[in-house]
Amino acid sequence: MPFSLLKYGLKNDYPFEQDADLPSPSELKKHYDVVIIGGGGHGVATAYYLAKYHGITNIAILEKGYLGGGNTARNTAVIRSNYLTSEGVKFYKESVDLFQGLSNEFDFNIMYSSRGQLTLAHTDATVRSFRQRTEVNKHFGGRTELIDPQQIKELVPTLNMNPADMPVLAGLWHIDGATARHDAVAWGYAKGATQRGVELHQLTEVVDVIVEKGRATGVKTNRGTVHCDCVIQAVAGHSSLVAAMAGIKMPITTYPLQAMVTQPVKPFLDPLVSSSALHCYVQQTGRGEIVFGGGSDPYPLYNTRSTLDLKESLLAHAVEMFPFMANLKLMRQWAGITDMTSDYSPIMGLSPVENYYLDAGWGTWGFKSTPICGKTMAELVASGGKVPDLIAPFSMDRFDEFRQVNEMGATAASH
Ligand SMILES: Cc1cc2nc3c(=O)[nH]c(=O)nc-3n(C[C@H](O)[C@H](O)[C@H](O)COP(=O)(O)OP(=O)(O)OC[C@H]3O[C@@H](n4cnc5c(N)ncnc54)[C@H](O)[C@@H]3O)c2cc1C
Repeated sequence: MPFSLLKYGLKNDYPFEQDADLPSPSELKKHYDVVIIGGGGHGVATAYYLAKYHGITNIAILEKGYLGGGNTARNTAVIRSNYLTSEGVKFYKESVDLFQGLSNEFDFNIMYSSRGQLTLAHTDATVRSFRQRTEVNKHFGGRTELIDPQQIKELVPTLNMNPADMPVLAGLWHIDGATARHDAVAWGYAKGATQRGVELHQLTEVVDVIVEKGRATGVKTNRGTVHCDCVIQAVAGHSSLVAAMAGIKMPITTYPLQAMVTQPVKPFLDPLVSSSALHCYVQQTGRGEIVFGGGSDPYPLYNTRSTLDLKESLLAHAVEMFPFMANLKLMRQWAGITDMTSDYSPIMGLSPVENYYLDAGWGTWGFKSTPICGKTMAELVASGGKVPDLIAPFSMDRFDEFRQVNEMGATAASH
């Protein structure tokens, strides 16, 4: 063994200062103004905005694993606002606007990459729905156009225009489509929050929620009991399980969602490309790898295993779109656990338990909403429960009142 490995490996003269910017308090306090369950992007963003805009800093973020280790670290980082409903477009548009300023705001590079998103239409019905989406998007300031096959070919010369014998008839070209480095987003928010006094407690699992006379007053954790004035749950694929601790039943079904990535190759694909008919989306990262994703697994499950079935079906469609990819080597495959609502929109706002707030139902599409969800959830909590207009349509009681915000057609395989 080389001497230098022993010399540097065995001596501790050069400790790794990974957490220098991110203090890890050792003890839990007895009481906090706000407890946030879940240290993913949403939890830390909410803490950041509470501290920055509302001066509320006596906050504990309780994370059972590590910062951003849930779906935040597992997503394929698609950011866009080209949704179908006016409620959806307005909400996600504000998120994209916030994303564009985050690197400056954090003084930390989140590697925001604005490259446009192209969704392919293979049927007349899809072309009609794209026309509608284009108009709704434009009305609310989104940059979305319906483009023809010639324009598609110019944007993506390597695309097969007749994949699986389904000719590409048109494309929804969303100029604001982008990606960002997901863990950097979580780190940026966490750093900004902890610098303002927020405590991030990793390896701290909430095992029960204390509800007294219909009001949340604290949580029990694997490290002891904590009392608080209010609780926010932001636990993505564990929403039903955590809400049940507070006696709340959520209208959610939970499925695994898988993705995969190839070896790096020379840059050939700038936009993000997706086809809901082929149930597949493809993008090239800044490192040259090709990322593939599709729809959720077909059966409810709490598990992050990868399957051969999905690999086969997803890649069969991907190589229909880009045949030369058949020669690439797949490097990694992974999964996250996603909480799906029946209308493919999230649940944000009040719950049946007083002072217990919900940030849930983010399914396959919640990374892009991290900034605006954090900002509006912070407004909600700081105001003592006054629901901001932007998130009012996404309250949980919409399912009782038949006020669904149906985004299924705009979410599908594009996330
Ligand atoms: C494969 C895949 C691809 C995706 N692609 C996209 C995409 O391209 N674009 C997009 O917008 N979205 C995408 N998503 C969805 C997106 O990742 C999520 O919606 C988003 O990350 C949710 O963020 P979060 O902070 O709410 O959740 P998470 O990052 O999952 O954070 C929740 C945290 O809560 C913690 N937790 C759970 N239970 C407890 C407990 N009892 N006590 C304490 N902590 C607890 C978990 O450990 C976790 O860290 C994708 C998801 C997957 C799985």
